Amino acid sequence: MSGQSALRKVEKVIEPVRMTDGAGVKLRRCIGTQALDYLDPFLQFDHFGSHSPEEYQRGFPMHPHRGLETITYVLAGKVKHKDSLGKKEEIIAGDVQWMTAGRGVVHEEMPQGIGNHMEAFQLWVNLPASLKMSPPRYQEIKDARIPWMNPMKGVTVRLIAGQIGGVTGPGVGAAGSLLLMDVTVDCDHVFDYSLSSDLTAFAYVFKGSGEYCGTLIEPARLVVFGEGDCISIKGGLHRTRFLLAAGKPLKEPVARFGPLVMNSNAEIEQALREIRNQTFPNGR
Ligand code: MN
Repeated sequence: MSGQSALRKVEKVIEPVRMTDGAGVKLRRCIGTQALDYLDPFLQFDHFGSHSPEEYQRGFPMHPHRGLETITYVLAGKVKHKDSLGKKEEIIAGDVQWMTAGRGVVHEEMPQGIGNHMEAFQLWVNLPASLKMSPPRYQEIKDARIPWMNPMKGVTVRLIAGQIGGVTGPGVGAAGSLLLMDVTVDCDHVFDYSLSSDLTAFAYVFKGSGEYCGTLIEPARLVVFGEGDCISIKGGLHRTRFLLAAGKPLKEPVARFGPLVMNSNAEIEQALREIRNQTFPNGR
């Protein structure tokens, strides 16, 4: 860290809310809840997974999306994905699916265990007004394309999107400037990272405790970073592992109806009318 860097403070610590979504998937939600409705540009963040198939296998049957991106990162098992045009993908442990719904995708997401175990994250990122009705786009980012890095001793990073040193992760947000990485910090080692103050940033701590900008955090918690331009994370006794996400806030009005996220209620009504009339774009 340079002498001029200001360490970001821990602004909020969010405890996941346990809930059931889709056709009966048990999940832990940190963004898109009463405690944290919207963390501009992040609309929703879910952690799901279990060793009991009845807690995930009913999945998320066909549903529409408009006006946002969904990023699915699978840690164990897989998620079988299919859209209404018949496009199919298996998102297997280690893979990321980055779906820019734009003007519309209708899809299903069905988790499957391997040896009954499945675990995944899904992050929803809002799109700016100028891109809400853009053509849908999929980035299928297979495990092998995501670089493993050791930016400092005792620190392991899987760089999904964003930059560390001269390396850029394979994922690209439609609105640019999105950062997403899976970081492990060994006991008593430290991960220092520059994160300019104009970015909204959070860490979702899912394994092992650590000191996050000076605050001891136990899993599973979501840490929202406040003002400043760098973060510093020190691993606890059993290492700490977290997803780090950052993005530029859009500062636009949000009109939200489940998986449809627009700027005005009129635009939501328009989408609902298209769904009723069966003219919703279906990804075309
Ligand atoms: Mn979906």
